Amino acid sequence: MNPVIENETLRLIVVLLANLVRYFLFAGIAYLLFYVWKRKAWFYMKIQQKFPTHRDLLREIGYSLTTILIFAAIAMIIWYARSEGFTRIYTNVDQFGWVYWVFSLGLLIFIHDTWFYWTHRWMHSSPRIFSLFHRVHHLSHNPTPWTAFAFHPAEAIVEALFFPLVVLLLPLHIGVLALFLLWMIVLNVIGHTGYEIIPVKYHRTWLGRIQNTPTHHNMHHHYGRGNYSLYFNFWDRWMGTNYPNYEEEYEKNAIKRKTESVKVEIKRAA
Ligand SMILES: [Zn+2]
Ligand SMILES: [Zn+2]
Repeated sequence: MNPVIENETLRLIVVLLANLVRYFLFAGIAYLLFYVWKRKAWFYMKIQQKFPTHRDLLREIGYSLTTILIFAAIAMIIWYARSEGFTRIYTNVDQFGWVYWVFSLGLLIFIHDTWFYWTHRWMHSSPRIFSLFHRVHHLSHNPTPWTAFAFHPAEAIVEALFFPLVVLLLPLHIGVLALFLLWMIVLNVIGHTGYEIIPVKYHRTWLGRIQNTPTHHNMHHHYGRGNYSLYFNFWDRWMGTNYPNYEEEYEKNAIKRKTESVKVEIKRAA
């Protein structure tokens, strides 16, 4: 085989496998834990007190597979661009030092949060744009871990475009990119899990005030608009797009979980 083609085939296998493993490992662990193993025992923690159908799950996984193909294609373009010297991805930490390494990870997460908020709001800006890009993601009114990548291909392209733009403009260490991809899938899966797992008064702490909870994104899926942000609550607070009863709803879910878990403990001890 031509060594160039062999090299490209190997790259394609690596990026495809990395994206497949990332999705199926983290969404799969959450699904097995919340929807199979602890399905009955943890039902009291479920935000919407019902389970989605098998048809819903198959639709979510099907669309996620097309998203994975698009993410892999964009990763191939970035890999190619890097080998041609077009990106600012670097491998030697000493080039910018550890302080920049940590700073660039935080900055990358913040930029992605901003990208997500504004593209997400744009996708909700008119019925036409919504149905072209975002309707598929909202077919899940009661999200599951598999909803994390369930996008129409047009939405998947909007989500993925963030990567080529950021690696062209910002010097990013390869390890920062890897950690970011890990952060992205873990937080995305937690946000779609459908269970409130954050402690009761957490939202009153300084970290809790800026971090989103599973209730936050669950409300977005349930009601179809509002609560547009991803990891952090900054943009929804600054733009006034949080549901007015978001904190109340979160507290209600967290308190219910706490009181029900106490009942379970008492029952077990009796
Ligand atoms: Zn939406
Ligand atoms: Zn969602």
